[in-house]
Amino acid sequence: MKKVLLATLCAFIVILITAQMHNKVYSRTEYMLDTVITIKADDKKAVDACFDEITRLEKLLSAYLPDSDVSRINVSDAYEKVKVSPEVVHLIKKAATYKELTDGMFDISIKPVVDLWDIKNGGYVPDDSEIADALSLTGDVLVNAQDSTVSLAKDGMKIDLGGIAKGYVGDKVREILLSHGVDSAIADLGGNIVAVGKNGSKDWLIGLQNPTAQRGSTFAEINVDDKVVVTSGGYERYFEKDGIKYHHIIDPATGKNPDNDILSITVVSDDGTLADALSTACFVAGKDKAIDIAKQCGVDIIIYSAGDVYYTSGIKINN
Ligand code: AMP
Ligand code: MG
Repeated sequence: MKKVLLATLCAFIVILITAQMHNKVYSRTEYMLDTVITIKADDKKAVDACFDEITRLEKLLSAYLPDSDVSRINVSDAYEKVKVSPEVVHLIKKAATYKELTDGMFDISIKPVVDLWDIKNGGYVPDDSEIADALSLTGDVLVNAQDSTVSLAKDGMKIDLGGIAKGYVGDKVREILLSHGVDSAIADLGGNIVAVGKNGSKDWLIGLQNPTAQRGSTFAEINVDDKVVVTSGGYERYFEKDGIKYHHIIDPATGKNPDNDILSITVVSDDGTLADALSTACFVAGKDKAIDIAKQCGVDIIIYSAGDVYYTSGIKINN
């Protein structure tokens, strides 16, 4: 039941408008990676291969499956070398690059703070000393590509790839589709949209959820051709206490929700892993810094803040 509820919560960050896809298309939907995933293409074998790949990756990357590589890292002692898949090493190394690139605003070691706020189980509002304690458990994640190991710099540290994993998995899905010769497909990984090629002779049309309106209302539609579209927002996974809404994205500088007026941020890029990390980081950064980060990384962004929508020049709005 809870799964179903969560699924409903996550499915509407971005709305796909795919009605014009021709009717030979095969569509499959599963609840995986803590969200609803739908892949559509005219090649059943390719779509099924994508779901096999997602199953494989979830077993490595999930912080909730006790035997995953990430879970084994999360129960290790300080500086213990945990042998993991080279792929996990590769992704954690990328996460370290994004941490540097965003002045620490994207930080996979934020998990103790995320756990403290406990959004998954209905939420808890911690006091400042509890936040300080949890923040003291963030820090360096050390990787050794040669022996394919990962170590955490402190006892009690934990990592959370929730801000980047779907982006990475989306990139792998795209690779699988292309390796099967699919040149037109659409995948929705809980709001991370992977648009392969074009939709027939047209661009894909992607609707962006209005964060202040009911689910299904869009504030814009954008045209994309062979891109990944990733949205972070505080309006889907949150709880409310004493009239205040608390959501799932944490500013690593404070251990609290970011203190800015961004309601959602969408990143459009060729690189889904980068787009996912940046959507989370830009949500933390606030508008001005987000624009700088987007420029520096060569991605397009759409920022929906209270009373204002900002687009970078590469975004193609559907009029
Ligand atoms: P996203 O929906 O991609 O923005 O990712 C949000 C998820 O990433 C949260 O549910 C947390 O698991 C994790 N997270 C929260 N804050 C951060 C942060 N500042 N850096 C990295 N991951 C985060
Ligand atoms: Mg993200």
